[in-house]
Amino acid sequence: MAAIAHGGAMGRIACALFVSPVSLMVLVAGCLVACAGAGPTSGPIVDLTHAFGADTLYWPTDGEGFVHERGSAGYTEAGYYYSAHRFRSAEHGGTHVDAPVHFAEHGVSVDAIPLTRLVGQGVRVDVRAACASDPDYRVTVADLERFEDAHGRIPTGAIVLLHTGFASRWPDRERYLGTADRGPDATHRLHFPGLHPDAARWLVAERAIAAVGLDTASIDHGPSQDFATHQVLAAAGVPVFENLASLDGLPPREFRVVALPMKIAGGSGAPLRILAFPQR
Ligand SMILES: [Zn+2]
Repeated sequence: MAAIAHGGAMGRIACALFVSPVSLMVLVAGCLVACAGAGPTSGPIVDLTHAFGADTLYWPTDGEGFVHERGSAGYTEAGYYYSAHRFRSAEHGGTHVDAPVHFAEHGVSVDAIPLTRLVGQGVRVDVRAACASDPDYRVTVADLERFEDAHGRIPTGAIVLLHTGFASRWPDRERYLGTADRGPDATHRLHFPGLHPDAARWLVAERAIAAVGLDTASIDHGPSQDFATHQVLAAAGVPVFENLASLDGLPPREFRVVALPMKIAGGSGAPLRILAFPQR
């Protein structure tokens, strides 16, 4: 189920409710301008981010997951309410970005990813059918060509989102990752779809994509032990968005993506807030 907020339209309705008849014309005119100009969009916003909490999924080798330590919460002696907590987390867990330096020694860190790779036109490649019958499926060049036959060429500089359907299994560790086990041995029992390294090479060389993302735990499918797709993308400076949510709220194309990770200096990755703005 997609989380959709209607920005401009709801804003205009809310504004119009409190206008008196006398000043109707002037206020409505002013309100329409203010509401339309108040945000980056006048249409729906789709949140592609899983909330971070105790059930957030991390790689089997990560022992802690997302730790949110309660600090203060309550009324102070002065009479006002105040709450402030602490969190700690691995860089790579939940909805997050892989910076190129994650798999390329001289790749950029998360704070240095060009914003032009984090904001841009998106396409959603629906591979749910193939992934439903094969949990280890890898998206191929043929899948991408089929997408283009149906929906047009993937634009240069696109943010390509692969829709495997696995977000519907979140946060069930066993169903989402293929195993509920933890520790180094568990990484040999992972099963979920990913992107074939040949298809990654094609997206980089033939379509010059800005970024790629998907609704599984890794851009390499679960059984991978060499992370070849990560290596291809990192070498090309392409950031990767993993553990995405709510891709079913997107059309195949005609939407913008804004993906803003925490700006960790020198980070190999970071928690990510990612939004999409369908344009029709
Ligand atoms: Zn990662």
